[in-house]
Amino acid sequence: MAPPAPGVLVIGGGLAGGLLALALREQGVAVTVVEAPPAISGSAGVQSATAISYGALPGWPLAPTSLARLAAGASRRWRRLQRHHGALGWRPRRLRLHGGLAGLGAASAWWPLPFAQVDSSVLAARLPQVLAAAGVACQPAWVERLESQPAAGWELWLSNGTSLQAAQVVLAAGAYCRQLWPALPQGLRSSWAAVLELEAYPALLAGPAAWLPAAFDRVALERRAAGLQRPEWLVDAGLVPWGKGALLGQHTLVRPGLELGTPPPPGEVEEQLRQGLAAQPWGVPLAPLPGPLRQAAVAFCSTGVPLVGPVPGSPGLWVFTGFSAGFSQVPVLAPLLAQSLVSGSHLAALATRRLRQLGVWLPDQAGADRFS
Ligand SMILES: Cc1cc2nc3c(=O)[nH]c(=O)nc-3n(C[C@H](O)[C@H](O)[C@H](O)COP(=O)(O)OP(=O)(O)OC[C@H]3O[C@@H](n4cnc5c(N)ncnc54)[C@H](O)[C@@H]3O)c2cc1C
Repeated sequence: MAPPAPGVLVIGGGLAGGLLALALREQGVAVTVVEAPPAISGSAGVQSATAISYGALPGWPLAPTSLARLAAGASRRWRRLQRHHGALGWRPRRLRLHGGLAGLGAASAWWPLPFAQVDSSVLAARLPQVLAAAGVACQPAWVERLESQPAAGWELWLSNGTSLQAAQVVLAAGAYCRQLWPALPQGLRSSWAAVLELEAYPALLAGPAAWLPAAFDRVALERRAAGLQRPEWLVDAGLVPWGKGALLGQHTLVRPGLELGTPPPPGEVEEQLRQGLAAQPWGVPLAPLPGPLRQAAVAFCSTGVPLVGPVPGSPGLWVFTGFSAGFSQVPVLAPLLAQSLVSGSHLAALATRRLRQLGVWLPDQAGADRFS
């Protein structure tokens, strides 16, 4: 029998698992993050969603909800994280919206709203070092399954043939959460996203700036996901600085049902992405630019509300996934979830109440239909 891992086991070392682990360390909790090694996660050109994200952080609420108002202040959390842990890729960024802006009378416009971006190439490179420096134990392995143990909480079976035990386990495995625990609410779904990685920021754009569509069609497709009869894909034309170059895209494929399935053929996706860009006036000169395709599986909730909290009927099992704007929501929700996980304290009760008020706390069975 494997020795029990102390504290909390977090499955997934992307944005959600990484920032939750840091927040748990701030609570003094021992944390182990189990993250797939690159040989597994990088196979077939597939990345974590975090590694190819635009990392856009609008400084205003994207919806009339308490969660959206809280998430609009995410840049404060990112600045605090950078003060404590060093560079994570956050910086203020000029925002340029293009297309579909009624009343502006121009193809694109500087948008005078507070806006920032986390350069996900910097975040992905720095996160493992930051976690190690904060005292988070990192276990490079693929979790094949997890089992509830009558006395010991949970046992995780790893691809390297070993297992780990802990009283508390958090599913932060993004689009792979359901493979590990199929009984998660039906509202949790997944898509395949793809972008082109440009070696340099295009000289024909004034910049560096984040160029985004006025509205992402992806959001409407995610809301319709439960009613899809066949796979649907679309292209949102956007571009953000990324490392020394830029990310250009993005292509979204949503399939009917709850299964993630295999990644779509890269050649087909690239053709659709380039054609989709060329079909929009702003994208015409960008569509032929050379650059490899990068794909990732992305978790989302068709309700628009992420899953945060204990999994009903499975004591000690928690979930943290399904974000609609992960770079805004995760940094403000991770400290609250970490506080809730530290059971028994008055502060834990306060954090749980706050998560309930925000509408993200997983309901018990009686209220589960809100999330389906
Ligand atoms: C192209 C694109 C653009 C985006 N733009 C924005 C944006 O502008 N703003 C914004 O807020 N959000 C954006 N997003 C969404 C954002 O990237 C996600 O919400 C966020 O990265 C999700 O983080 P996560 O940690 O939940 O998932 P992931 O980053 O996918 O992390 C999950 C991790 O779990 C690991 N894992 C999975 N299964 C296992 C297993 N069984 N064993 C071990 N490890 C496992 C994976 O290797 C992975 O690293 C974008 C996403 C994409 C793809």
